[in-house]
Amino acid sequence: MPLPTITTLLPHHRGDSFSLAPGGLCLQHPALEACPWLVHGFGLRNRVSRDHPLPGDSSFEQSGEDVKSVPIQNALVTSLAGKTMILARLRQCHSDGVVCLDRLAPGDPPAEGDAVITRRAGLLLAVQVADCLPVLIVDKAKRILAAVHAGWRGLLAGVVPKTLEAMQSRYASDPGNCLAVIGPSIGPCCYEVGREVAQPFEEAFPGRPRLWRNVQPPGEALSSGTGLPEPPSNARRMLDLPAACRCQLEAAGLPGRSVFSRPPCTSCHRDVFYSYRAEGGSTGRMLAAIGKIH
Ligand SMILES: [Zn+2]
Repeated sequence: MPLPTITTLLPHHRGDSFSLAPGGLCLQHPALEACPWLVHGFGLRNRVSRDHPLPGDSSFEQSGEDVKSVPIQNALVTSLAGKTMILARLRQCHSDGVVCLDRLAPGDPPAEGDAVITRRAGLLLAVQVADCLPVLIVDKAKRILAAVHAGWRGLLAGVVPKTLEAMQSRYASDPGNCLAVIGPSIGPCCYEVGREVAQPFEEAFPGRPRLWRNVQPPGEALSSGTGLPEPPSNARRMLDLPAACRCQLEAAGLPGRSVFSRPPCTSCHRDVFYSYRAEGGSTGRMLAAIGKIH
């Protein structure tokens, strides 16, 4: 059986163009594929064909790992990096912690934080997600890489701009030379939030109606379209986390054309991705990884 196409895999996706990697283990983005000096991938929930079996490596299993995720993640790492790169993972905690890694030995424990940066070849930077945003950032001129895990807490804490600040202060990176790709994550179609999330986002992103979709409850008359600031009191509030991330990336100096913020929705495509929210909080995690070959 041949691999499905990206269209059959994600029939409802209308955003950024991703491709299915050879072997069907991950999605890739053309802007990152255009950099021949790096490897990258956004992992999937399952292998996409029974005729494309997983490699048998289990090199980075660790305690606390969700067993449902481990085989596919190991296979992804092997397919991207073979045995030649060291996997750099984090103990993620929905924080603004940024880790700069210039050296890592096999077996070193993961550092605590939600973003990791390197300029070193041979490190495969990885974050784990299921609805939260995996953000892969590349300085094409200086060949600096970053992988960021950002959910609503991380976005409010500023982990994305703090990653770019660290790239500038530590490696003299110019945001104008950077590109950023947001991988599969929960979209505004599915991410309804309550007041406890909506209010801090309104305060952190004032005057940004495009971050919001207001959906009327069934049977109610529709009011005038989408957007804040005056939603009907009974409207459901849908938050666009990737759009909020785009705001932060552009504010940090990335050109708008270098930001890709319309990924497939994890909740809409639960057969392809893990979705923490859609599956009641009990699910696996997908690896998003990027590494410099030379
Ligand atoms: Zn959705």
